[in-house]
Amino acid sequence: DDAILEVDGLKKYFPIRRGVFSRPKGHVKAVDGVSFKVRRGETLGIVGESGCGKSTVARLIIRLLQATEGSVRLDGRDIHAQSPAELRAMRRDVQMIFQDPYSSLNPRWTIGRTLAEPMKIYGIGSKREQIERVASLLDNVGLNPSYASRYPHEFSGGQRQRIGIARALVLNPKVIIADEPVSALDISIQAQVINLMQDLQEQYRLTYLFISHDLSVVEHISDRVAVMYLGRVVELASKEQLFRSPKHPYTGALMSAAPEVRGAEGAKRERIILRGDVPSPANPPSGCTFHTRCPSCMDICKTVAPALKEVEPGQRVSCHLY
Ligand code: SF4
Ligand code: MG
Repeated sequence: DDAILEVDGLKKYFPIRRGVFSRPKGHVKAVDGVSFKVRRGETLGIVGESGCGKSTVARLIIRLLQATEGSVRLDGRDIHAQSPAELRAMRRDVQMIFQDPYSSLNPRWTIGRTLAEPMKIYGIGSKREQIERVASLLDNVGLNPSYASRYPHEFSGGQRQRIGIARALVLNPKVIIADEPVSALDISIQAQVINLMQDLQEQYRLTYLFISHDLSVVEHISDRVAVMYLGRVVELASKEQLFRSPKHPYTGALMSAAPEVRGAEGAKRERIILRGDVPSPANPPSGCTFHTRCPSCMDICKTVAPALKEVEPGQRVSCHLY
């Protein structure tokens, strides 16, 4: 397979301290052994409730955070083993689209300056070429090139996210990580932005890692989907497999709670109500970390952590039922 991004055994434990100088009292296992591959030109969706570790995975990949353990390989090279110079070069290749484009745009800069800045930093093109590139990027994301002279506050939320997408494209990255890119937008605008991302993907053969808590959004855009719970991937499958026949009890419960999700031939799913809340990642349950809430919990689940194994070609599940 043609993996552009390979995440292997990734862990991020945050120490819990009472004071700055005191010894750690334990760890929050925000990401606890996550592995997946993203293939060139595909969209891998990562779905899970807030606090499941999906945004931490994104921050580890772009090395805003240092991993506790595990590796991230971009095009075969380990991101966490790079020298500062190599890291700088690699930062070009992975770009992010954030949930709130407004907070990630400098309010005192024109859109043209914001979009030209990455080219200036990396010394790409003449001034004139940079201006032309900005104009064509704005056109690509469905905005009038004359908007280059305007400021962020002059745009709507959806337009700002189009600008955020244009900025992610400036350096022709190998992978784009989108962390809840439409969660802050009105429903009607969400579809426009998702469709734009899909059009751009086709046009430029982009690779997306698409992070969202929203199953229907993930279903719309993804080729494959990883479901996360308490810092781990519990199921990883093609979109068709996952939505037609979810195998992990947590995936099933998530889907039953999302009525807009199509599911098996449009059949209505019976609502599965999970007991309790998501446990704290500082004190995760033993064995299968989902066992405190799982409707199918067996004795073994309380002591033995299930491995993520392939139960159908292309469908991996971490559950003792399989
Ligand atoms: Fe439920 Fe056991 Fe499967 Fe965990 S391993 S999801 S507790 S059946
Ligand atoms: Mg998040």
